[in-house]
Amino acid sequence: MERKQFKLLGFDIDLFNSKEAIDYVNNLIDGVNSSHIVTLNPEMIEYASKHADFAKIIKEAELVLPDGVGVTLGLKINGINAERITGIGFAQMLIEIASKNCIPLALVGAQQEVVQKASENLKKKFPDLNIVYSHDGYFSDNNMIFEELKQVCPKILLVALGSPKQEEFIYELKSILPSTLMIGIGGSFDVWAGKVQRAPQIWQNFGLEWLYRTIKQPQRFKRIFPTLPVFMCKIIIERFSKKG
Ligand code: UDP
Repeated sequence: MERKQFKLLGFDIDLFNSKEAIDYVNNLIDGVNSSHIVTLNPEMIEYASKHADFAKIIKEAELVLPDGVGVTLGLKINGINAERITGIGFAQMLIEIASKNCIPLALVGAQQEVVQKASENLKKKFPDLNIVYSHDGYFSDNNMIFEELKQVCPKILLVALGSPKQEEFIYELKSILPSTLMIGIGGSFDVWAGKVQRAPQIWQNFGLEWLYRTIKQPQRFKRIFPTLPVFMCKIIIERFSKKG
C-alpha cells in the first residue's frame, strides 16, 4: 500500500484515514523489520525544528499520523482535509487487532500503579488480549528494559513516556527488536487507568481536547504557548511563500 503524504514545515505527514492507516499498519505488523508510528503535534514539530536528532527520528518513522489539531489545521491551510488520528484512538484500534489475532502486546510507561491498572482495565475490556510485558516509565537504564523486551518479543509495543522521550526510546529499540510495531502515546495509560479523564466528546469533536486538558492541568499552558502561535505563523508563511 502506497503512502500518501504531504510535507508540512519539512515533515512528511501521512494522509491516510483511520481505516487506511489500519490496513497499512497490518502490513507493518507482518513486516520483517520493526517500525515506528509517530502521532505528530505542533509541539513535536517545533521541538524537531531545534533538535536535528529528533527531526531524524520523525523523518525515519514508518508512519506519521496527524494527531494535534494544529497539524490538521496546518494541512487545511494547504488545502488538505485530513482526518485527525489521535495516539490514544489509534492505540485502541491496535489493541483490538492484537486481541482479535492473539498478537503479543507490551506496555512501557507511566507510574507503576498506572500501567498496572491500565493493563488490568484493558484485560477486562478485551479478555483475549495477550499482554506479555508491562513496565512503568520511570527507569534509569534503557538497556535493562531493552533486554527484557528482547526476551518476550512483543509484536506491538505501546510506549507512554511523553514526547520526545518515547520517540527516542522507540528509535533506539527499532534496531534491537527484530519485528515489533511501536507507537508513542503520551498520557494514554493515565486515561486507561482512570486517573485522567479525556475531554467530553463534544470538545473532542470541535478539536478542543488540548484546551480542555490545559484548563484541567494549567501547567500544560507553557507547552502550547508560545509554541502553537509560532507554529501557526510558520505554516501561514510557508503557505504564502509557496503561492508566491
Ligand atoms: N512519563 C513516564 N516517564 C517519564 C516521564 C513521563 O512514564 O520519565 C509518563 C507520565 O507518567 C505520563 C506520560 O508519560 O503517563 C506523559 O503524559 P503527557 O500527558 O505528558 O503526554 P501527552 O499525552 O501530552 O503526550
